[in-house]
Amino acid sequence: MSEPLVFERSVPGRRGYRLPPRDVPALDLADAIPQEHLRPSPPPLPEVAEFDVVRRYTRLSQLNFSVDTHFYPLGSCTMKYNPKLNDRVAALPGFARVHPFQPAEHVQGLLTLLYELEQLLCAITGMAVFTLQPAAGAQGELSGLKMIAAYHRRRRRKRSTILIPDSAHGTNPASAALSGFRVVQLKSSASGFIDLAELKSKLDDDVAALMLTNPNTLGLFERDIKVIAALLHERDALVYMDGANMNALLGIARPGDMGADILQLNLHKTFSTPHGGGGPGAGPVGVAEALEDFLPVPRVRKKGKRFVWDSRGRSTIGRVHGFYGNVGVLVRAYTYIRTLGAEGLARASEAAIINANYLKTKLEQAYPVAFDQPCMHEFVASATSLKASSVTASDVAKRLLDYGFYAPTVYFPLIVEEALMIEPTETESRETLDEFIQAMLRIAEEAKTNPDLVRRAPQRMPVARLDEVKAAREPNLRWPVSSALLGVS
Ligand SMILES: *Cc1c(COP(=O)(O)O)cnc(C)c1O
Repeated sequence: MSEPLVFERSVPGRRGYRLPPRDVPALDLADAIPQEHLRPSPPPLPEVAEFDVVRRYTRLSQLNFSVDTHFYPLGSCTMKYNPKLNDRVAALPGFARVHPFQPAEHVQGLLTLLYELEQLLCAITGMAVFTLQPAAGAQGELSGLKMIAAYHRRRRRKRSTILIPDSAHGTNPASAALSGFRVVQLKSSASGFIDLAELKSKLDDDVAALMLTNPNTLGLFERDIKVIAALLHERDALVYMDGANMNALLGIARPGDMGADILQLNLHKTFSTPHGGGGPGAGPVGVAEALEDFLPVPRVRKKGKRFVWDSRGRSTIGRVHGFYGNVGVLVRAYTYIRTLGAEGLARASEAAIINANYLKTKLEQAYPVAFDQPCMHEFVASATSLKASSVTASDVAKRLLDYGFYAPTVYFPLIVEEALMIEPTETESRETLDEFIQAMLRIAEEAKTNPDLVRRAPQRMPVARLDEVKAAREPNLRWPVSSALLGVS
């Protein structure tokens, strides 16, 4: 599987393309370009044929996993297959080629789409109004928290605490702290939910809001959500709902009806758009009417039959993104919603839930599920059952690569030991799920019969185990990439 560097394939004089003989006089470069900008010698480019280049880069593109090539059950990340139709629409010149400085009269089509997308998201979530500006879930959180601060500031009172359950996504406490709030953690109950007694004991007049995810990161639906929201509202504290897991609720339940005052959606998860590697996303934020004044500007408004940008707003938290966010992602989400329709969206969520429960039921013998009850779109299993053979969640994840599956999220949420967080999404077929189940069960078996094999995995990948900390902290993305990295580690 080792892939030599393109430089190692270089043969002096080999060319991909030759120009016809020159029919004009030669020019001395020194006469055209100032001496100090000239190289002393030609750059050491590889000398290769066209197909050397094409094959090399095609092969390199296949050394990675992606939703287009593999099942990708990365819990919480909702790595689902994205219909290519959405890309086609986003690439239409009327969307892809518009310039952000074009006057509104020139981009009425795009503004219509943005306006309608806001309306659709309101209908899906039960929130009163949306901003499409934030570029990611975490930036949506940050924008929501700024609005929470503005809400209390307008009421001329100091509220500095945000309550966050211990099952929360790491971005929640990070966003709260970044916004200047004090984070107070709520310990989950033994069954994996918000513990009402714990909530009541920490709910005082310094609480600005509760941030919670529903379904939570254990894949469980917070059944007491209305009681929880009422407790917060009694003290005029707000309910922030992290809506990254909205793909479990589409057409079934609406956060606005549950009492959420602020909600961010991850369009790049629930509403299509391939994501990963930090690629473009969109984290629109919906709010209840009482918070509308604080929304970021500009907003798209309808004036008669035309659409205009409106930058007014005395109480706005301001702009959170250049222009109007990642418009390509917004176009994909709009296309996705319009293709599926209300019924299709509900069926997508149902399929996501059924798929997760199917996997959970088939795997829980070998990998016990921490908070065992019917799950929503994902569940958290544990590799503690393999401890006797010194095989860890990380080993299981690596061995899955050998079997041609991307790994689940591991070691998150933190409250589950040796966590394997599995999210199949609605787009996978029964056959794929069965193949995944077989691989997982086989790994559990291997852990007993040949633990070394699992601990040394992956063996069929171009690289074995990397130093993950070093790879993340000091990524080496430049040529010359060490041959060790591309060969065998
Ligand atoms: C993915 C995710 C986030 C963060 O979203 P980004 O777009 O990666 O910033 C926040 N909360 C939950 C529950 C998530 O799954």
